[in-house]
Amino acid sequence: EREKEIGGVCLNVGCIPSKTLLHAAEVIENAETVSKYGITFSTPEININNLRDHKSEIINKLVSGLKKLCELRKIKIIKGTAKIKTDKSVSLEDNEEINEVTFNNLIIAAGSKPVKLPLFPENEERIWDSTDALSLKEIPEKLLIVGGGIIGLEMAVVYNALGSSITVVEALDPLIPGADSDIVKPLYRKLKKTLEKIMLETKVTGIKASKEKMTVFMKDKKGKEIESDYDIILVAVGRKPNSHLINAAEAGIEIDGKGFIKVNSKTETNIPGIYAIGDIAGNPMLAHKASAQGKVAAEVISGMKSEFSPVTIPSVAYTSPEIAWAGLTEKEAEEKGIKYEKGIFPWTASGRALSADASSGVTKLLFDPDTKRILGAGIAGLNAGELISETVVAIEMGADYYDISESIHPHPSLSETIAFASEAAAGTITDILLKK
Ligand code: NAD
Repeated sequence: EREKEIGGVCLNVGCIPSKTLLHAAEVIENAETVSKYGITFSTPEININNLRDHKSEIINKLVSGLKKLCELRKIKIIKGTAKIKTDKSVSLEDNEEINEVTFNNLIIAAGSKPVKLPLFPENEERIWDSTDALSLKEIPEKLLIVGGGIIGLEMAVVYNALGSSITVVEALDPLIPGADSDIVKPLYRKLKKTLEKIMLETKVTGIKASKEKMTVFMKDKKGKEIESDYDIILVAVGRKPNSHLINAAEAGIEIDGKGFIKVNSKTETNIPGIYAIGDIAGNPMLAHKASAQGKVAAEVISGMKSEFSPVTIPSVAYTSPEIAWAGLTEKEAEEKGIKYEKGIFPWTASGRALSADASSGVTKLLFDPDTKRILGAGIAGLNAGELISETVVAIEMGADYYDISESIHPHPSLSETIAFASEAAAGTITDILLKK
C-alpha cells in the first residue's frame, strides 16, 4: 500500500467522506425545508474544522476496523509503491527494508485517479480534484464545477449546502449522461433552482489565473463565448486506471485502449497467476463492483469454480434527490434496439413520499414484453440508493412484474413505489389512473 492508510480511495478520499458530507448537507437542507410547515431553525453556523474532524473520525473508525480484520486474518501489510517486475515478483519503492516481493498469485487492485484537463495549469492550488474537495480545505465563495457527473453533482450538493455559489459546466446534455434523462430530471429541476447556474453542452476553452481570481472562458453549443471569474474550480470529468503507475504493460500484461487491464470472467489477466479487479480492470469504476470481483479472484485462486458474471451492477448518485439505476436503461434499449414495456409511478401519488417531502421522485421499471421479466430500473428520490437494491435482486432472479407487484410491500413506504411501478406495467394499479 503506497498511501499512509489502507482502505483505498473509497474509504479514505471517496465514498465514505463524501457520504459523511452529504449527510451534513441533507441536515442543513432539511432544517431549511421544514420552515415551510412552521418549524424554524436559525441559520446554521458551519464550523468547517469540526466538520472535517467528524469526517476524519468516521474514516479512522473504518480504517482501524479494516486493520483489525487484516490482523485477525493474519494478512501482512507492506508499505511502499509496487511496480510489477516479472510474472512472479513486484519491486517496491519507498520502503527502506524491502525492495522486492515475490508471489505465487498476484491480485492487482491499484485503482484509478482523477482525469486532469490539459488546458488547466498544473500545481494550481485553486484547481481541485475530488480529493481536494473532500479534504474541506475551505468553503469557496464562487465555485465552478467542471463535469456534471456523479462526483461533480455530489460535491455541488455538499458545497451548495455549505454556502458556496456554484456553477456546473457539463459537456453533454443531460447531467449524469449514463442515466435516463427522465430519472435525472427531478435532480436537474432542483439544482436549477438552488445552484447559481448549470451550463449544459458547454466546454471550457481557456483559463487565466491571476492572484485574486481565475477567469474561465467557455463556449456553448451555439458558439456563444462565456467568461466568468471563480475562486475555486473543481474538475470532475472522470477517472482513469492506474495501470501505467504499476508498469503493467512493461510486465507484459495486456491493457486496452483506455488503459484498463484486460481480464476474463475469472478476473484472470493474460499472465497465469496474475489477476486484476476494480477500477483498474474496467468500467464501471464502482467500489461494489471491485469488492465483488475481489471475492471472485480469491475464490478462483483457491481453486473454486467462481466467475464474475453479474446481470447488473447498480449505480447511485447520492445527490438530493438521489438518482439510482440498474440493468437496462431506455437510452441503452433504444441504442441496441431492445424492446421493452415500461411501468412508471410518480411519487406525487405516494403517501410516504408526500409525508417525507419527497414528492418530486419517480420510480420507473422496464420489462421484457414477452416474458414480463424485469430488465431495468431507474429511481429518483429520497433513498433511491437504498430502494434500487430490491430491483437488483429482482433483475438477478429474473422476477416478472407479477412477482414484484404481488409481493406485499409495507405501507406506507417508498419501496411500495416499486410494486406500484410493476402494477402500472401490468395494468393492475389502483393507486393511479392509467391512460388506456
Ligand atoms: P463521470 O464519468 O461520472 O462524470 C464526468 C462528467 O464530466 C460527464 O458527465 C462528462 O460528460 C463530463 N465531462 C467530461 N469532460 C468534460 C469537459 N471537458 N467539460 C465539461 N464536462 C466534461 O465521472 P466523475 O463524476 O468524475 O466520477 C468518476 C468515477 O467515480 C465514475 O466512474 C463514477 O461512477 C465514480 N463515482 C461513483 C460514485 C458513486 O457511486 N456514488 C461517487 C463518485 C464517483
